[in-house]
Amino acid sequence: MRLLLFLFVLSITISIKSQEFSLPVLRFEYDQYEQGIDEKTMRIHHSKHHQGYVNKLNKAVRVEGLQNIPLIDLLLKASEMPGSVRNNSGGHYNHTLFWEVLTPTLSDVTPGKISVELSKQIENDFESFEVLRSELTNAAAKRFGSGWAWLVVMPDKTLKVTSTPNQDNPIMDVSEVRGIPILGIDVWEHAYYLRYQNKRGDYLSAIWSLLDWGLISEKYKDALKDPLLKRI
Ligand code: MN
Repeated sequence: MRLLLFLFVLSITISIKSQEFSLPVLRFEYDQYEQGIDEKTMRIHHSKHHQGYVNKLNKAVRVEGLQNIPLIDLLLKASEMPGSVRNNSGGHYNHTLFWEVLTPTLSDVTPGKISVELSKQIENDFESFEVLRSELTNAAAKRFGSGWAWLVVMPDKTLKVTSTPNQDNPIMDVSEVRGIPILGIDVWEHAYYLRYQNKRGDYLSAIWSLLDWGLISEKYKDALKDPLLKRI
């Protein structure tokens, strides 16, 4: 009987432990983003900074007894979370999205094309793709200190550009504009300083050439059907 109880407790402990967060694998090698972001920046950003957020998030949820709470729920209740959970859950979520939407233009890789649906929605909400581009660039350029610029699917299914400080994001209840982000641009200095130094604008122009609009279109389609949209 005691053995059974021991095994029961052990299995629960293991199932909780299995919810550890981990660093996602990049879709390409560090040096394949060179046209926009240099190899060293990609390597340090992914393997040190993002890994750091993952490690600190795992530690923070352990310390706070939140191991069994899904990442999205940690974000939705950011205002009630200690700083360690808010910053590192955001850091992990935001970077995961950032890596996903970057695709280098290589001889053997062509970034996907924007879908008709997303294209139409951009025309509805921004008039044109160029206006969207300048709004996003503006939001990213004007973010004081560290933070992110976002393209967000709103609960009413329209699109909006916004920006958040630090590692906050639009899913969080602390964000002014709330919805599901389908594109995030990291404007922390660690994202660009080695190549661009203080020229954030040059980094922002360069990053535009790495955005995979086929993938962002997929994210748009998924966001429209995502039950999360009704919880925000
Ligand atoms: Mn970053």
